[in-house]
Amino acid sequence: MSFYPPQKVRLKKDIGELEIIWQNGDIAKISCDELRRYCACSSCRSRKLIGVRLVTESAEIATVNLIGSTALQVVFADGHDRGIFPWPYVNAIATGRVQEFLNA
Ligand SMILES: [Zn+2]
Repeated sequence: MSFYPPQKVRLKKDIGELEIIWQNGDIAKISCDELRRYCACSSCRSRKLIGVRLVTESAEIATVNLIGSTALQVVFADGHDRGIFPWPYVNAIATGRVQEFLNA
C-alpha cells in the first residue's frame, strides 16, 4: 500500500506543531523545533557539520507548501524557506529514525 503522500497536512501554529495524516490513517505530529533542527537544506546541513547551533533561530513556521506529491516545503517565520522535506524523511523525523534514514 502506498504510504505517501499524506491525506492531510495541518500546521497548528498555536501549539507549534505539524500534524500529518498518512494514507493509512496514522497521525504523525512533529514539533516546529524538530523541523528546524532537521532541516536538510545545504545551508543548514553545512552549519551543522561545523557545529554551529541553531538555537538562536526561530523555529516558528509561517507556512508549509506541498511540492507535488513528493515533498513538503517548510517556510519558517524568519524567512528561511529552503527546507524541502521528502515524505520518507518527514516520516523518519516523526518516528525518531532520522539517523537511521540518513545513514541508509
Ligand atoms: Zn535549512
